[in-house]
Amino acid sequence: MQPYQKFLSEVLIPEQELQERIRELGKQISEAYTGKDLHLICILRGGVMFLTDLMRSISVPHSIDFMAISSYGAGTRQASGHVRLTMDLRDDIQGRNVVLVEDIVDSGYTLASVLGLLATRNPASLKVCTLLDKSERRETEVSLDYVGFEIPNKYVFGYGLDLDEYYRDLPFIGVVNEEKYTPPED
Ligand code: 5GP
Repeated sequence: MQPYQKFLSEVLIPEQELQERIRELGKQISEAYTGKDLHLICILRGGVMFLTDLMRSISVPHSIDFMAISSYGAGTRQASGHVRLTMDLRDDIQGRNVVLVEDIVDSGYTLASVLGLLATRNPASLKVCTLLDKSERRETEVSLDYVGFEIPNKYVFGYGLDLDEYYRDLPFIGVVNEEKYTPPED
């Protein structure tokens, strides 16, 4: 038995389903950005697996960059509404067609805050591609342009999403068994 198995209550999205949907998203983005300069921005660390698979499904030339943020209250699983930039982009985005690549949109605060910041840098366009959307939990309105899967209000891990920093490597999205898993104290 693998260590993660005791924390897994169910596989919500199996590997094949994830990969098929990502290929579709890549196709949609490729069609929308044909003949345009496309710049993907990934928020570390949860979006990394998604970014790398999505890139391989995008057939138009594109560049990538990364940023990192930390949410106050991270680890407690409570959205606080405050995020702090811990690593900025390397490149200027002025005049570029940016697609922000996210792992999951939950309350929407992280995304709203990052979009607000990026908008001040005058990109030509700014769109959002998220793998997962927990729309039931939304507390602030954000507009999503590309969504992989709408998911129920359950804490998930795998495929980039962590269980207190572990198991990002799993190729599927699983639901945490809240009875068996106790998050570490902050
Ligand atoms: P929001 O600001 O939209 O509430 O939260 C977004 C961030 O919270 C995500 O980028 C992710 O880091 C974290 N998050 C929200 N829901 C989940 C979840 O179900 N599992 C994991 N591992 N992280 C989550």
